[in-house]
Amino acid sequence: MTSSCLTALQRNISVMWKTVSEDCNLACDYCYYSTCGGKPGPKINRIDSGILEKFIKEYMEMSNGAATFAWQGGEPLLAGLDFFKEVVTLQAKHAPKHTMISNTLQTNGTLINDEWADFFKKYNFLIGVSLDGPKEIHDARRITSRGQGSFDRVMRGINHLRKQQVDFNVLTVVHKGNVAKAAELLNFYESEGFPFVQFIPCMDFRSQEVDFPGNYEITPEEYGEFLCKAFDYWYNNGEPRTSIRFFDEMLNVYVNRDPGLCIHRASCPQTIILEQNGDAFPCDFFIDSDWKIGNVATHSIEEILSHPLYEKFLKMKPTLPEPCKSCEWKKLCHGGCPRNRKWSDDLMTSEVDYFCASYKQVYGYADERMSKLGDKVRARLFQQNVERYFKGKLPQRNDHCPCGSGKKYKQCCVTLSLKQEV
Ligand code: SF4
Ligand code: SF4
Repeated sequence: MTSSCLTALQRNISVMWKTVSEDCNLACDYCYYSTCGGKPGPKINRIDSGILEKFIKEYMEMSNGAATFAWQGGEPLLAGLDFFKEVVTLQAKHAPKHTMISNTLQTNGTLINDEWADFFKKYNFLIGVSLDGPKEIHDARRITSRGQGSFDRVMRGINHLRKQQVDFNVLTVVHKGNVAKAAELLNFYESEGFPFVQFIPCMDFRSQEVDFPGNYEITPEEYGEFLCKAFDYWYNNGEPRTSIRFFDEMLNVYVNRDPGLCIHRASCPQTIILEQNGDAFPCDFFIDSDWKIGNVATHSIEEILSHPLYEKFLKMKPTLPEPCKSCEWKKLCHGGCPRNRKWSDDLMTSEVDYFCASYKQVYGYADERMSKLGDKVRARLFQQNVERYFKGKLPQRNDHCPCGSGKKYKQCCVTLSLKQEV
């Protein structure tokens, strides 16, 4: 094994594949990725079987016990069930023994039937369904090529997932039509019993050489207000309800863990984004010919990972703008997403993230309650693990902290009172 192979093994790379490129059966009016207008045509741009197997084999060889695949589109279900049956067969064929294989799939939900749901359940796929709120809100923007709303079809798809007990979450694009309606969205999600919700602000996800900040549909102030209202709902007097990813991950930081959302981690995760034809890019928001780092049909994963552009990309996030370096919220935010910063031509300096003001607003608004909740959660974990792993006695200062943060006890919960209400 070469030293470069070892490097890749240690990296734990995950993969996102744009399964059918831009092909989609919806024509959401804010979508900048798909250009087929909801009419994908008779021949779907599916990943070629040869490329699929070459990549899965190589990826599995360096999987290091865990292989993570994300399937996106366009609308990935247009690839057909046989395509995904081929995927799981190839994964099983090439996975070393005891490899944890995880598949997530982001769909508009309209094509899910019992057969799909059955398959997802059998192979343990985690499904993300795009839904922008209750019917009137969703149908205003997520439409078919004929301009009809897709809400009823999405809910039918969700019901198939429910029936087969498939794990799923809801992804909501926050745009002009719902940014002032956080409570309405969340009441609806709660009434439907959706357990996990994620928000993503509406913007042009694709082009990199766009005018800044011209491609954002909502203002930082609107998004900040939305997050504050959503926080009030989520916090629920210290008993969080409906898991909202932004706040779950924020709470993680108050429990002494690292942020989980890529935009708030110290560095961008090492992912390879693949177009249906095998072209590789460093991030879903950097699918642009200027950021192409190879093609899996002709390059090895190692060659792709060592492309100079990949290195350049990974340096962007930690190259913080001046205001971030001394920001009181740095630990929660880490400068946001490089995609939302306006960069100098040499990529050495940038302005702050377009949504900086939104983050500052919600961090300040939520801080006191998050601190209280974080202490409560930490104390509960601490107590449970002291019982479980330390026979009820306090650990030594250099032991791993029982709260599970991975830090030493002396650097973590040593000051935390066990007498807190847990
Ligand atoms: S560029 Fe932004 S979206 Fe892409 S991985 Fe980095 S933080 Fe995440
Ligand atoms: S809140 Fe703004 S200034 Fe602070 S780290 Fe985030 S982007 Fe930077």
